[in-house]
Amino acid sequence: MKNEGLNALQKAFDKNQFYTDPADCWVYGYDNSRRHALPDAVVFVTSHEEIVRAVTLCYEYGIPITARGRASGTTGAAIPIQGGVVLTLERMQKILKLDVANRAMVVEPGVLNSEVQAAAKSAGFFWPPDPTSSAYCCIGGNLSCNAAGPRSLKYGTTRENTLGLTAVIGTGETIECGVYTTKGVVGYDLTRLLIGSEGTLGIISKATLKLTPLPHAKRTMQAFFKDIDSAALAITKIMTQPITPCGCEFIDGNAIEMIRKHASADLPENAGSMIMIEVDGSSDDLSADVELMKMACQNPGLISWSVATTQEETDKLWTIRKSLSQALRSLSPHKINEDVVVPLSHIPDLLNYTQELAKEFDITIVNFGHAGNGNLHVNLLIDPFDPVQGPRAKECLNRLFDKVVDLQGSLSGEHGVGIEKRDYVSKEITPSSMQLMKKIKAQFDPQNIMNPGKFFPN
Ligand SMILES: Cc1cc2nc3c(=O)[nH]c(=O)nc-3n(C[C@H](O)[C@H](O)[C@H](O)COP(=O)(O)OP(=O)(O)OC[C@H]3O[C@@H](n4cnc5c(N)ncnc54)[C@H](O)[C@@H]3O)c2cc1C
Repeated sequence: MKNEGLNALQKAFDKNQFYTDPADCWVYGYDNSRRHALPDAVVFVTSHEEIVRAVTLCYEYGIPITARGRASGTTGAAIPIQGGVVLTLERMQKILKLDVANRAMVVEPGVLNSEVQAAAKSAGFFWPPDPTSSAYCCIGGNLSCNAAGPRSLKYGTTRENTLGLTAVIGTGETIECGVYTTKGVVGYDLTRLLIGSEGTLGIISKATLKLTPLPHAKRTMQAFFKDIDSAALAITKIMTQPITPCGCEFIDGNAIEMIRKHASADLPENAGSMIMIEVDGSSDDLSADVELMKMACQNPGLISWSVATTQEETDKLWTIRKSLSQALRSLSPHKINEDVVVPLSHIPDLLNYTQELAKEFDITIVNFGHAGNGNLHVNLLIDPFDPVQGPRAKECLNRLFDKVVDLQGSLSGEHGVGIEKRDYVSKEITPSSMQLMKKIKAQFDPQNIMNPGKFFPN
């Protein structure tokens, strides 16, 4: 059946769109989770009609189909673990419409996030989702993972910034969902359902993105604190005053120590945590906003406070945050990077708990993240592929996730489930919700061919 299906696909596509030689397919078995599974075939689609053609044949012959953007996802969501077809969207790179009057942009799924930003900027706009991987991830991947970056604190995630979608569901049928307006309440919200569904319900072939005018000015600030609790207090205060920053990033004392050892950065002595804050607005004078942030940070634990006044100074402040990734990578190339999220008032509980886990499991844990959202990257500096360290890390993560759920948090703020977290989702999703999700999946994908083996517990 599978071979017949692959033959049918071969006939349906040009030679330069359909590959089955393992040497050609090999690289399409990876993503940034560093896992690998060889697909039986790779199909390079160039239009909505070709997606319909590919999915219809896969449905007919029961062949698994895994959509692929640029494979920068970290959870193994784009790995074809059951073989079958990898359907790559990388040749669908057109910006179909930039509609300034309606603050909208219509794009194909293979357009890079950074290209959307550049096109929007030319008209005085931006699209708020700003993952760090912006230069090499695409809109289809952003939509399917509900990607977000620091700006989501003020402007929302991919879900809040998408008006409508066209998609091909697991039967080969086309659905159009959402609106071309900024309001609309007719029907169930299938747009929000598809966003974050990691290619398990359908292949997104077109998206209408909601644009936001670029702010006139931005100011960046940095505050060092003697410990985690003082920084956490400042974060809560920042988020309870009337100005919402467009970024509020945190790093803990272990991270500061690492930067001290591995990068040449100017760091105050005895710093136990740091936060970076950014505000933006329509006026060039943001001094009142800066003052509000300063007041929110003023508690007995504050060690130093600085405000950048030029682009050069802004870049210098960000150097410390950016040097962290390099320091962590050089210390622990295979580190585990979790992206749990908790309500703001529970940030200190979570951070203190990670230190308890670090002692109990004898693992160095470094925390940083998007503190304004309560979204923390908990980094376990170990090798998960090591036969001794691997199981220890697994148990440590198990306990971490229990704590996150206890604190009314969520297991992932931005990376998603994929393969990495599917065995833990039952901690967060109740049995009745899980059953309903499985029934929804069956309506979209009755043959279970859309990215099978992901998202749901094994
Ligand atoms: C250095 C680095 C930094 C990162 N920083 C961030 C960050 O700040 N914030 C963040 O949210 N993420 C971040 N990520 C994770 C990743 O870049 C994002 O999740 C991104 O949105 C994935 O896009 P992609 O094109 O690479 O998708 P892929 O990895 O190719 O695919 C991801 C998922 O989307 C599905 N998919 C792809 N295209 C479609 C489509 N058209 N229709 C249906 N399903 C589809 C795939 O099947 C898969 O399930 C980072 C990754 C790296 C490596």
